[in-house]
Amino acid sequence: ATETPYYFTDKPEADRRIKPRQKFSHKGTFGHAVLIAGSYGKMGAAVLSGKACLRAGVGLLTMHVPACGYEIMQISVPEAMTTVDEAEKHISKTPDLSSATAIGIGPGLGQDGATVKALEKVLEQAKVPVMIDADALNILSANRHLLYKLPANTILTPHPKEFQRLAGDSSNEYERLEKARAFAAKYKVIICLKGANTAVVLPNGEVHFNSTGNPGMATGGTGDVLTGIITSLLAQKYAPADAAILGVYQHGAAGDRAAEARGQTALIASDVVEHLGW
Ligand code: AMP
Ligand code: MG
Repeated sequence: ATETPYYFTDKPEADRRIKPRQKFSHKGTFGHAVLIAGSYGKMGAAVLSGKACLRAGVGLLTMHVPACGYEIMQISVPEAMTTVDEAEKHISKTPDLSSATAIGIGPGLGQDGATVKALEKVLEQAKVPVMIDADALNILSANRHLLYKLPANTILTPHPKEFQRLAGDSSNEYERLEKARAFAAKYKVIICLKGANTAVVLPNGEVHFNSTGNPGMATGGTGDVLTGIITSLLAQKYAPADAAILGVYQHGAAGDRAAEARGQTALIASDVVEHLGW
């Protein structure tokens, strides 16, 4: 008999994964996240992911952004350190990763040829857990040899369109889920299939359906918030499966509190950041 691979993340399941903060901890205890994000006209994605990363408890955050984003980051996210790329409008080089405890890449990145090379170098150099989203996913879809360079247990957070680019068409939800299970097993990665009841698919075939979130979150920038949260948990040494499952749950829970505060229609991604907390 084969065990059913389906699980449901309710509050007790999420709480069980939380690591309480110890009295004698210091910021070094909570890791150093490096987020590689942004391009000209899409710096907001970098700002949202950076704020969410901090709110999810990381000790230190470095944002690596294109040169045009320097002042934007320093003013919008004063808690973060900012390093700038030598290119003005997009990422073209790998930042210093020597003190990173996790790396997140993708929000607002664009798909410049130099950015493709930078992503390849990040994947080759990474010695810590990696989280990949947005245009970094689209780069993988368009440069498929990079899929074989993904470190084991890398977390990917595609929305339906991004997953279609990665894995092809699905005629229904079940087929999409089976495609995600095959993909996760083949490349040994964790896939968060985003949408209502986001499915976190593990390399061992387990599927963890999320219980939180609402249609008010169908608005630009909420995915970038999730990237920041999961990168933050990885940097704090949560095991990748726990970072994905707990991060998706807390993101939806913050979205639910935000919707309670001002209704689903008016909800914007910044509200999700403001309602983070656990
Ligand atoms: P993105 O498309 O990358 O901005 O990501 C959108 C985020 O909002 C994901 O975390 C989705 O799970 C969430 N989201 C979008 N639509 C819904 C919905 N109808 N119900 C719950 N969450 C949603
Ligand atoms: Mg997105």
